Amino acid sequence: MAALDGLPPLREVIATHGLSAKKALGQNFLLDLNLTAKIARQAGDLTACDVLEIGPGPGGLTRGLLASGARRVLAVEKDARCLPALEEVAAHWPGRLTVLNADALEVDPLAHLTPPIRVVANLPYNVGTELLVRWLTPAAWPPVWSSLTLMFQREVADRIVARPGSKAYGRLALLAQWRCEARIVLTLPPEAFTPPPKISSAVVHLTALPEPRFPADPQVLSRLTAAGFNQRRKMLRAALKGMHPRMEALLEEAGIDPTRRAETLSLEEFCRLARVVADAG
Ligand code: SAM
Repeated sequence: MAALDGLPPLREVIATHGLSAKKALGQNFLLDLNLTAKIARQAGDLTACDVLEIGPGPGGLTRGLLASGARRVLAVEKDARCLPALEEVAAHWPGRLTVLNADALEVDPLAHLTPPIRVVANLPYNVGTELLVRWLTPAAWPPVWSSLTLMFQREVADRIVARPGSKAYGRLALLAQWRCEARIVLTLPPEAFTPPPKISSAVVHLTALPEPRFPADPQVLSRLTAAGFNQRRKMLRAALKGMHPRMEALLEEAGIDPTRRAETLSLEEFCRLARVVADAG
């Protein structure tokens, strides 16, 4: 029986095209089109947007995005075995789906799209964090994309939305929350995927803020959070020692007790410290 969009069900697509999942490519497929439509809805109104999807695989989420009315979808897939299945989807939605057979780490697909741009993906676990960090650190802010709706392992999703004082709080939380609104919008058990991974997953929706929540030089902030969390059990005066000869005094100047640990500092405090460090030269 055909699915609601008139294309064959995903199990049939996988069987027809011999798309047995490859672990090395992080292939855990979503075969329930109701679920992929639900994920597409988390991205907001797509009708006036270009959408970038990384790793369409057999096309479940791609179909959800197109059925949700995305103006155009650019899907970047590394596994050439998926191309015939994706061509069928493209033929079904003429002029709206472009498939790029490439490694998402080696191309800059955002450059080919017209704003407003939303990124929506069930990311391969092995490259998910790397791609997120790249999207969060463009040359200029605001970025060309307006939102990211991304599936991660639950543990990574928790690190993105973590608050100070929690175990998951660290560099990723600060990077994401400095210039974005980030929240978990959906959690999925392993059984939602074929084959099921060992762990649960979650969809995080990040909206780009027009400007950072607090002013800070991105490089200084990045160096501070790297040094602070690389030795997260250490007091800041020890963990940050290598950053400036007068670090302890600079911490005091920023109103931060040098005996505190990085995991207790709020985003605002990190940004304040970054400004004091930058001014100290
Ligand atoms: N979107 C599909 C779904 O939801 O069922 C598949 C998701 S699966 C978790 C990840 C997909 O990313 C796979 O199709 C895999 O081949 C692809 N992939 C893995 N590494 C990639 C890379 N570096 N660049 C582009 N695609 C990649």
